[in-house]
Amino acid sequence: MKYELDHEEIREGLRRLCKDFDGAYWRKKDQTQAYPIEFVQALTESGYLAALIPETYGGSELPISAASAILETIHHEGCNAAACHAQMYTMGTLLRHGSEEQKQRFLPGIADGSLRLQAFGVTEPSSGTDTTALRTTARRDGDDYIVNGQKIWTSRAEHSDLMLLLCRTTPLDQVAKKTDGLSVLLVDMRDCDENSLTIRPIKTMMNHSTTEVFLDDVRVPAENLIGEEGKGFRYILSGMNAERILIAAECIGDAKWFTDTSSRYASERTVFGRPIGQNQGVQFPIAKAYAEMRAAELVLREAIRLYESGGNPGEEANMAKMLAADASWAAAEACVQTHGGFGFAVEYDIERKFREARLYQVAPISTNMILSYLAEHVLGMPRSY
Ligand SMILES: Cc1cc2nc3c(=O)[nH]c(=O)nc-3n(C[C@H](O)[C@H](O)[C@H](O)COP(=O)(O)OP(=O)(O)OC[C@H]3O[C@@H](n4cnc5c(N)ncnc54)[C@H](O)[C@@H]3O)c2cc1C
Repeated sequence: MKYELDHEEIREGLRRLCKDFDGAYWRKKDQTQAYPIEFVQALTESGYLAALIPETYGGSELPISAASAILETIHHEGCNAAACHAQMYTMGTLLRHGSEEQKQRFLPGIADGSLRLQAFGVTEPSSGTDTTALRTTARRDGDDYIVNGQKIWTSRAEHSDLMLLLCRTTPLDQVAKKTDGLSVLLVDMRDCDENSLTIRPIKTMMNHSTTEVFLDDVRVPAENLIGEEGKGFRYILSGMNAERILIAAECIGDAKWFTDTSSRYASERTVFGRPIGQNQGVQFPIAKAYAEMRAAELVLREAIRLYESGGNPGEEANMAKMLAADASWAAAEACVQTHGGFGFAVEYDIERKFREARLYQVAPISTNMILSYLAEHVLGMPRSY
């Protein structure tokens, strides 16, 4: 299928790169729940993961539309960027709020791949979506912070050198607003003693290298505090538009993969002496999912346009993420249905992509939270929590 696309040169480069990582590669990783290290390495060496890092720190200083094109193409080609996408948006917190010294210390290594910033520790088992109720604490002790607590769903922690950690530096009962008193620390996990930092993998329905992280008196140098103490929640929020945009781009890529796969199969598979795609019952769900994807893509483009012109596309970025996740899920459902029994066969890759696409209804933000944001912050209805 021919789509109208921007950043064609970047996309073409990605298409070439992704050819080396075919369905068999991803199936093997999926079956063994193994980290796609070769794929991440290839992306890093080609500079794609450093797209958003400024040239001064060794990156290519591209706009977010280019980063979106990178992630969308990876997913459109049947690959999965979840192994490394966080680096693109977690890095933004360091870039926007870190000191010049911190940027000089970390960004060049992140850009050339010698340092991985893939882990983002926000969610906790007891607080879930209610981030400000998190219980991980950091107490100042001389030149260090001492961190105690537990994180869950900290993806890629085993494959990352650094973790961006949100923790409480002022107890909840001593702050005026519950969003105050949270701070962001850049934890260099290579320096942590193994008795204080424990990482346990969590097996999930798709291959996602996610973990739970236990922090028991972990010492983090105070020089690794990002920005000002107590303002961490604001810093994390300021990266949300980029995160929503980039994840929406991945969902658009997935939707295109499913739709291409469905349309091709529907045109080739013959039952009752004619292609199954000649039946409107088969055509329509595919066409409907395509229309939904195109609509989501338009909202995503608007979010990107506003972001790149320096605006705050909170509304558009959230809507793009939700609509794109819905469109990819509709396309996934149509793809399984179009393939009949073969939709369930591992070697067709559809069931794997189907499992992968389901995640985006829940993480990194669930659909309910986006609807709540739109209802309260855009439409002005009463707050529910
Ligand atoms: C594979 C995977 C990878 C992840 N990676 C990371 C990561 O790298 N770093 C990280 O910090 N987190 C990560 N997460 C966590 C993810 O962001 C959370 O799972 C998600 O935000 C939902 O939180 P929860 O699981 O605690 O659900 P809960 O907060 O327990 O919510 C459960 C359900 O109830 C709904 N709900 C809760 N409150 C309300 C309300 N007031 N109104 C309406 N609905 C409500 C939610 O929408 C959800 O559907 C990951 C999760 C998964 C599954």
